[in-house]
Amino acid sequence: MKKLLLIVAILFLAGTIYFFLSGQKVNAPDFSQDKAKQDSGDKSPPAFDKSQYSLTDPASLWVIVNKQRPVPTDYVPAELTTPDVRRDPSDSAEEQKIKSGVAKSIEAMFAAAQTAGYQLMFASGYRSADLQAVYYNGYVARDGQAAADKYSARPGTSEHQTGLAFDISRIDRKCYLEVCFGETPEGKWLAQNAHEYGFTLRYKQGKENVTGYQYEPWHFRYVGRELAAKLHETGQTMEEFFEL
Ligand SMILES: [Zn+2]
Repeated sequence: MKKLLLIVAILFLAGTIYFFLSGQKVNAPDFSQDKAKQDSGDKSPPAFDKSQYSLTDPASLWVIVNKQRPVPTDYVPAELTTPDVRRDPSDSAEEQKIKSGVAKSIEAMFAAAQTAGYQLMFASGYRSADLQAVYYNGYVARDGQAAADKYSARPGTSEHQTGLAFDISRIDRKCYLEVCFGETPEGKWLAQNAHEYGFTLRYKQGKENVTGYQYEPWHFRYVGRELAAKLHETGQTMEEFFEL
């Protein structure tokens, strides 16, 4: 009788051990499958989604404004704010503003420039269509319409009206809104680093026929870090990248 009990006990113990081990075996492949999935996910990031923001809505992060793609002249960004950086004191209060979501990125970029030894000045940000009309009409009166159209936007065709674009200067105003700004250490630093903060140099050298504007090494446009990195990497304008 004792022998029988011992055999039953051994069988019970063996069964328990088998159950425990097989349980472990079942778990193991599941874990390795999950890991394999994670690894393959890391190796192939999702493709860049070019349709994630509108290219026509003036309130969109990726709106493309140019001479062929105007925004309504009565469009005003919902929220405008004054970035906490050195600003051009000769600019109107309106021009010292930028769309609210962009201010932090400007502050971060100016701080990084300062750390690298460059002092930047925020020259001109948001401009209403009315203010743009004052500038444009003044340039036409001074230089004639054909000349003015090369460097100034007609009301409704300026990126400044979206609140996403702004001009940058050195604090000593050397090469202020002039092509030679691109050759200054500040201009070079911006061309190399602005994309890290979500900005793109909108009117690139050699792309006059695509953008409709001369090279403007001082004019930057916020598009977010993801698109800014793509434009920096490919050297393309927004028009080229989106195949317009
Ligand atoms: Zn500008």
